[in-house]
Amino acid sequence: MNIYKELKTYFGYDTFKEGQEKLVTGILAGKDVLGIMPTGGGKSLCYQLPAVMLEGVTIVISPLISLMKDQVDSLNEIGINATCINSTLDQEELMERIKEIKENQYKILFVAPERLNTNIFRNTIRHITVSFVAIDEAHCISQWGHDFRPSYIEIPKFIKGFANRPMVAAFTATATKEIIIEIKKLIELQKPIEITTGFDRPNLFYQVSKAGNKFTYLMSYLKENFQSETGIIYCSTRKTVESLVKKLKEKGFSVEGYHGGMNADIRMKNQEDFMYNRTRIIVATNAFGMGIDKPDVRFVIHYNMPKNMEAYYQEAGRGGRDGEKSQCILMYSPSDVVKQKLIMENEYSSPERQALQYKNLQYLIDFCHTNDCLRNKILTYFGEVIIEEDCGNCSNCLDRSEMIDITLEAQKVLSCIYRIDQRYGVNIVTQVLRGSKNKKILQLGLDKVSTYNIMKNYSEQGVREIIMTLVARGYIHVTTDKFPVLKLTAQCREILQGDVKIHHKKELVEAIGSKDEKER
Ligand code: ADP
Ligand code: ZN
Repeated sequence: MNIYKELKTYFGYDTFKEGQEKLVTGILAGKDVLGIMPTGGGKSLCYQLPAVMLEGVTIVISPLISLMKDQVDSLNEIGINATCINSTLDQEELMERIKEIKENQYKILFVAPERLNTNIFRNTIRHITVSFVAIDEAHCISQWGHDFRPSYIEIPKFIKGFANRPMVAAFTATATKEIIIEIKKLIELQKPIEITTGFDRPNLFYQVSKAGNKFTYLMSYLKENFQSETGIIYCSTRKTVESLVKKLKEKGFSVEGYHGGMNADIRMKNQEDFMYNRTRIIVATNAFGMGIDKPDVRFVIHYNMPKNMEAYYQEAGRGGRDGEKSQCILMYSPSDVVKQKLIMENEYSSPERQALQYKNLQYLIDFCHTNDCLRNKILTYFGEVIIEEDCGNCSNCLDRSEMIDITLEAQKVLSCIYRIDQRYGVNIVTQVLRGSKNKKILQLGLDKVSTYNIMKNYSEQGVREIIMTLVARGYIHVTTDKFPVLKLTAQCREILQGDVKIHHKKELVEAIGSKDEKER
């Protein structure tokens, strides 16, 4: 059999997308495979094509009951017999399907993970030949990931239950090393052929905004861009979703909310209204996500910063699945960092895991403070090698704003951290530099240090910005404790000795009031 011929016959394509051919031929050769591809990369075809070519039935494990029906329908439309087993079926329907499966009426069988080890399912598949087991969204098995599903733990048990182990094909859009290692280990993939395709999404424009008033910024964005196209606005809490929906409705926007605390019917209705373009904008928590397959989302705005780059990439990646130009705007504010840390503290986790969470959060904070290409910063996170320095399609690459020399300011910040024995966090360092009369500062005697009040002409935001950009560039290290402390790195010597000059955007760091301070 010729795979190109089958590709054309069933799917109507002449060529494969990146990575697909190797995964398909791997499965056809009887090997385990692991496909790591971004959203929209074409993972489904990697198991659907071998499914029609191999003898027997392919079992596809998928966490998304809501999507199974769509997947089944579209397969049936192209002449591939498929069905699904999940909790939406009543007893009668279930028995009917089981009968049909045993009669070998289907080539592809979608199943929810919690069904795998039920007696009825195990008995059913004893009657059929299983060609291979495909696992969609395989990262759901990892507790380190952002989508952990306890029911995924059933998978290894299920596979062990076969007298002859079938081959296993796992797919995910997650590319972080820790999670990939865990997927391979927990699913017990055997010498899998591992294919990772590029994670770059060239049609997405990335921007970080540090607007003082987020709502005002959002209003002007919505007025000036994509006036009639659809978009997603992500918020970190249900409360923010509710209040933002209310405010946007008052301004006359076609908008609805989506979060885990809503009545299930309303939530479903809001999702469908958005999917079918009856609502233009959806304001949501991260509950709105995996499996949202709307091709023409033109903007994804993060009203609050998410918890790490992985989550940001996945959420922003819901824009532009049709390949058309789309925008991803991340609105940064220091208070969101505090919020994320609180969320992390309230989740039970080991100290080791918490430290990793803080580290991952810091990467995203650095992303918000870098002057380098944002796309490259994302791709570097996923371990991709960067070829061009300037992508020409992110806010940093397009930014022509005036840069000023902040070497002196940087020296002041670094000396201050040194003078207070590298024992405090951003807030205290900022207050000392700005000469705050805060009770805590006086109590600690920090008003006596020589660096007290040496940046009195700078706004609080300006000082923070300078600190954070020094963190982003590796001159300061933020510890991963509950109360993170600023420490100097060995690299900061080059700034203190004046060997290296450092520049930053004027509008973000400019001194206020008297300019005497800036004479040098
Ligand atoms: P993923 O599951 O990785 O997010 P999908 O399987 O939904 O991606 O595929 C994304 C899009 O790419 C779909 O619209 C699909 O029809 C299309 N596609 C998949 N394979 C090919 C191919 N070989 N050639 C052209 N388009 C493809
Ligand atoms: Zn760029």
